[in-house]
Amino acid sequence: MANTNAEIGVIGGSGLYSFLEDVTEIQVDTPYGSPSDSLFLGEVAGRRVAFLPRHGREHHLPPHRINYRANLWALRSVGVRQVLAPCAVGGLRPEYGPGTLLVPDQLVDRTKSRVETYFDGVPRPDGAVPNVVHTTFADPYCPAGRAVALKSARARDWEAVDGGTLVVIEGPRFSTRAESRWFSSEGWSVVGMTGHPEAVLARELALCYTALALVTDLDAGTETGEGVSHTEVMRVFGEKVGHLREVLFDAVGALPENDERSCLCVDAHAGWKLGFELP
Ligand SMILES: [Zn+2]
Repeated sequence: MANTNAEIGVIGGSGLYSFLEDVTEIQVDTPYGSPSDSLFLGEVAGRRVAFLPRHGREHHLPPHRINYRANLWALRSVGVRQVLAPCAVGGLRPEYGPGTLLVPDQLVDRTKSRVETYFDGVPRPDGAVPNVVHTTFADPYCPAGRAVALKSARARDWEAVDGGTLVVIEGPRFSTRAESRWFSSEGWSVVGMTGHPEAVLARELALCYTALALVTDLDAGTETGEGVSHTEVMRVFGEKVGHLREVLFDAVGALPENDERSCLCVDAHAGWKLGFELP
């Protein structure tokens, strides 16, 4: 029988796992509905990894319709405790041009319509009633995961930017020039559409979460041409996906064992009663 457990989750596109041998596809249901797609389980660097295409394998889900709660829950339910989350972003500074890799340490939420907590006090279909819990989120990313990601990139001759602020917009449209200039004038680094609520839901499930932001374009307020186009985003991502995969797979091998983690993510709920069991 195929192994249906995993220890590390990678939320990203099919380009990241499609060449792996012995991938096991499993469908996972959750109290929050279905995740974006099946989980694809395989082995990387001796570690069990679950891949989840964030937008579905056919890219049919726009950022605001992704079931983020189901995605993180599904990963945790197969054993995942650490998540690497590559995403495409726009650069908000001229020096963060296409091809830049940035490992953010801060996040600003500019989304509008997304469910961003498990702790809403609303009874679930299975009868559990989540308590209202206020999760500490001052440092939204796992410090251990960030260090591993930066080191892995450097070892593959990719000098990743250490830290910066990812501002997450609702999408699916790109920013106007005025919005984009505002974001850069605030000192924020890159802009994306999926980093929230993915990061906070991971923290609520006591998962380690590390974003790897690949700049595919300069955002509208930073560049001088026509503005961001989807074609350009896909072209740059396609060029870089191989390199990104190498970095991710090295990072998978370098992450700590799940039961040896000593980061702040593990104690996310110290002092709180949740009202349900974590999967
Ligand atoms: Zn952590």
